[in-house]
Amino acid sequence: MFRSFLIKYGEIGVKGKNRHLFEDALMRQIKYGLKRAEGEFAVTKDKGGRIFVEVKSDSYDYDAVTDALRHVFGVIAFCPVVHVEDISIDSLRKEIVDYVEHVFEDRHFSFKINTRRANKSYPMTSMEVDAALGEAVLTAFPETKVDVHDPEVDIRVEIRDIVHIYSREIAGAGGMPIGTNGKTMLLLSGGIDSPVAGYMTAKRGVIMDAVYFHAPPYTSDRAKQKVIDLARRLSDYSGPVYLHIVNFTDIQLAIYDRCPHDELTIIMRRYMMRIAEHLASENDCLGLVTGESIGQVASQTLQSLYVTDSAVESMPVYRPLIGMDKQEIVDMSEKIGTYETSILPYEDCCTIFVAKHPVTKPRRDIIERSERKLDDVIDGLLQEAYATEELVIVGKR
Ligand code: ATP
Ligand code: MG
Repeated sequence: MFRSFLIKYGEIGVKGKNRHLFEDALMRQIKYGLKRAEGEFAVTKDKGGRIFVEVKSDSYDYDAVTDALRHVFGVIAFCPVVHVEDISIDSLRKEIVDYVEHVFEDRHFSFKINTRRANKSYPMTSMEVDAALGEAVLTAFPETKVDVHDPEVDIRVEIRDIVHIYSREIAGAGGMPIGTNGKTMLLLSGGIDSPVAGYMTAKRGVIMDAVYFHAPPYTSDRAKQKVIDLARRLSDYSGPVYLHIVNFTDIQLAIYDRCPHDELTIIMRRYMMRIAEHLASENDCLGLVTGESIGQVASQTLQSLYVTDSAVESMPVYRPLIGMDKQEIVDMSEKIGTYETSILPYEDCCTIFVAKHPVTKPRRDIIERSERKLDDVIDGLLQEAYATEELVIVGKR
């Protein structure tokens, strides 16, 4: 029934040159998203800057298209559009009734027909078309009523070479198109939080690289696969994710051998941050992103966050979940589709080398003194970790 989709996007604050960047990025991301929907499509922009997805193939998978469009940041809403080739008023009367019958199950609503005449040679004025089509709907569905001031349903009729009819808006993901705001490095674990943090950053238009630390043989290939699966979920929104997989085993063992056990977690986290920072600057990222929130666990007290953060020297660390409760994060992960994967029970490297009583109020000077016990080995271990990094490109289509 629907042959195109009108894309609604926020234009506030995107003017001049930025507007083109915004629209180009949006069209690119829509094309990317549509690659997973069956059918052929063109993404077009008309003179007024309106973006459409046009269906080019005879058949296509409507549900897959709406699902793909719901994953594109920058899309506030979209409207499925019916195309009518025979633009005579008799044909339009019939088509508008079909449209209302098909799109609205419950027709106890007030409505208004809103005609726009881009085709100036059309023999009726837009008000005449409004009246004719309004009457057709009222006759076919006596349970409806007209309200031209504050209608519950606003039915748009656009007369061009063909006629477009649309009304219903499907909510999109909002945010800004990927590629309009630089790139960051997400520390992606297999947990619930970091995928949500990645989603929130990507939603602002930021390209997402990711790094995962694993510790074979203490962590399994299945734990690694889980992180790849999470990156794939995220890539539906963010576009391809360059996932750097770093072998952290020897660094963890060295920390375990040489440093006080109640400081293991914090020291380990500081090395994760340092490695992430190194990879971030090598890959043109302008910041790190983590899934931390204040007080959630011992390693996320303000004191711990302070000491963790101070390991990073050259770029900001963004923590989009900083003020969220666990339940809010869980709700969000369910909404974005990462929860089911996140709760699979595979081990994480942080949970293997944990002390019974980790420090909850670490002091930076004390932690730095403990880290000096690694001085003679750490550079070699870091080089080894960088040299053996595995890059997995997830979600390329
Ligand atoms: P998550 O649910 O994201 O795993 P968490 O509540 O388990 O978070 P921590 O284990 O303290 O919290 O980790 C805090 C943050 O550090 C994570 O949100 C993530 O950004 C990063 N992180 C932890 N473990 C890893 C890992 N193995 N690889 C990459 N990043 C990690
Ligand atoms: Mg975790």
